[in-house]
Amino acid sequence: MDKQAAKKRIIKLRNVINHYSYKYYVLDNPEVNDATWDSLIHELFELEQKYPDLIRPDSPTQRISGNALDKFIKVKHQKRMLSLEDVFYYEELKSWQERIQKLVPLEKLDYFAELKVDGFAIALIYENGVLVQGATRGDGQTGEDVTQNLKTINSLPLRLEVHQKLPSLIEKKVKQLIKEGRIEIRGEVYMSENAFEEVNKERAKNKLPLYANPRNTAAGSIRQLDPKIAASRQLDFLAYDLVTDLGQKTHQEKHQILKALGFKTTQDQFSNNLEGLSKFRDKISKIRKKLSYQIDGIVVNVNDNNIFNKLGVVGKAPRGAIAFKFSAKETTTVVEDIVVQIGRTGALTPVAHLKPVRLGGILITRATLHNEDEIKRLDVRIGDTVIIQRAGDVIPDVVKVIENLRTGQEKKFQMPIKCPVCGGLVIRPVGEVVHRCANKKCGSIQRQRIIHFVSKKAFNIDGLGPQIVNQLMDEGLISNSADLFSLSYGDLIPLERFAQKASENLIKSIEQSKKISLAKFIFALGIRHVGEETAITLAQYFGNLKKISKISLAELSKVEDIGQVVAKSIVEWFNSKRNQVLINKLLKDGVVIEKVKIFEKKLTGLTFVLTGELNKLTREQAKTKIRMLGGGVSSSVSKQTSFIVAGKNPGSKYERGKKLGVKIINEKEFLSKVK
Ligand code: NAD
Repeated sequence: MDKQAAKKRIIKLRNVINHYSYKYYVLDNPEVNDATWDSLIHELFELEQKYPDLIRPDSPTQRISGNALDKFIKVKHQKRMLSLEDVFYYEELKSWQERIQKLVPLEKLDYFAELKVDGFAIALIYENGVLVQGATRGDGQTGEDVTQNLKTINSLPLRLEVHQKLPSLIEKKVKQLIKEGRIEIRGEVYMSENAFEEVNKERAKNKLPLYANPRNTAAGSIRQLDPKIAASRQLDFLAYDLVTDLGQKTHQEKHQILKALGFKTTQDQFSNNLEGLSKFRDKISKIRKKLSYQIDGIVVNVNDNNIFNKLGVVGKAPRGAIAFKFSAKETTTVVEDIVVQIGRTGALTPVAHLKPVRLGGILITRATLHNEDEIKRLDVRIGDTVIIQRAGDVIPDVVKVIENLRTGQEKKFQMPIKCPVCGGLVIRPVGEVVHRCANKKCGSIQRQRIIHFVSKKAFNIDGLGPQIVNQLMDEGLISNSADLFSLSYGDLIPLERFAQKASENLIKSIEQSKKISLAKFIFALGIRHVGEETAITLAQYFGNLKKISKISLAELSKVEDIGQVVAKSIVEWFNSKRNQVLINKLLKDGVVIEKVKIFEKKLTGLTFVLTGELNKLTREQAKTKIRMLGGGVSSSVSKQTSFIVAGKNPGSKYERGKKLGVKIINEKEFLSKVK
């Protein structure tokens, strides 16, 4: 994206994100889910990193979102309440580490991780051991005084006491400040899943609109003027930070103190390397559903407080901490094209080709749009920014268009009136949502063509049997052989029966098949009447695809072994526009035709029959050698057979050859002939 386009996109993104943030932070009533918001802010962040002079101080990437509502007394935080940058993948975590390590090159970095609770940040002030103030984060500088509401949370200590032993110096200081002094503690107010369900049940009973999620419900409950509402909502509190210096040297010690003071904290993990953090996140993701509160990842802190402070703050977040989030089931991307694929039954499926995007760790490039009605319902256009989701063992689909990100350049899509594969009429039978090719055989002919294309004697794509061809056609991933070469790992992995290994193997086989001999390539095209032998003859006679594709009937008739009917079929095939497009696509997607070696045709006019097992080469290799040298191979013995090549345990062909008086040679003699 050039700078001009980036600038326009940045402005649109900021507006849309600000709108969503207002609904989320101020009204506690989100319009989209977190994954969508995360994906958009990530895109904005990346664009701003690419063009740093386009960063504005009021960009949502630079400021802590949220406002202090006027209905509460405003509280100025003594130390700014920050947000966190987030990463989703290990490589991103590694880049974070590399970035911060550069700033403190001599320090050894250790980490302390805890859970990232999806709640509502609160700062608690204790004076002389007594809770005197609880405030929301607000815009980071100024929050709202919600002390009365916080006091309704049973697990939140109203008076501090030391319940567990601490290192003696720390314990002394804690006790001293409890007696006389100020202690600030930060953490997250949240609503448990059970409490959330109760609230919504109650609302349903009273015919009130349901709340979207526990996080916004907790936030909404804390920001009510009447503490009775908060009291009825069973809120809870988890502490994650100790702001006051009580002698703690590490984040780990902060947690120790918080626990000793009677605060609930989340599970945590010390690690001196990133692998340990990744393992911790994996472990937590497995037990995530069993937790009573929602989390969206882990928070990784540089454990040493001195180094943490030295690293400072960038934008809205401390450099020394990062949210290492779980990968989402939804994300946003741009529809670059809409392509119609034909299925086995002749059904036409529109498929969105996407700007590649990672979803659940996989690079996704396509999403199904199902049918024309679905396109109309979504009003999806080429160029639109969309939310896509993965659900079940199928390719992802498009959930929603983010219309506010439109530029006016988007193109509406229309179902074709002619089948993109055979040119037949496209119809939509009455009462059906699906468009079909009127040529009833179209889909199944395509299927047969693909099966032939990938078969052993053609592209020889290992692991791509008829069943898989069916599946790929049904998902709208392929409708002709050329489509195979633009398949990616991310297209396959979501599908049923495609585990990681199977997907990798198939992509590898496709990749390996790309280098092919001219004869096999011609055979794979499935030109009527052009079998293996004719394909070899064509390859040997003309030497390259360009010549063959422009061949005239007159030129072909000069070739021995190619009759009138075959010649006509070849010329017609190469004259077809659709076939030319297919060949161009194959070559564009990386198919490489090997240079043809032209051999002395010393076996011209001779026909060989092979029987029994050969030692030094396979049947196929032997056949190829004969053909390269101008000879022919037949599967049955007749008087016209020039030689029978007899390997180990020859079959009935041997006996028949003997009877007919055909010359029989062994493998050694054969090899000397084809040298
Ligand atoms: P954040 O929630 O991503 O991260 C910072 C916050 O994490 C802190 O303020 C703190 O409250 C919390 N937190 C939880 N556990 C913590 C721990 N152990 N240590 C430190 N902090 C911890 O930051 P943000 O900037 O407030 O908001 C972004 C979040 O809000 C994202 O998850 C985003 O999806 C969501 N959001 C959603 C929408 C929407 O429309 N759906 C809109 C805006 C924001």
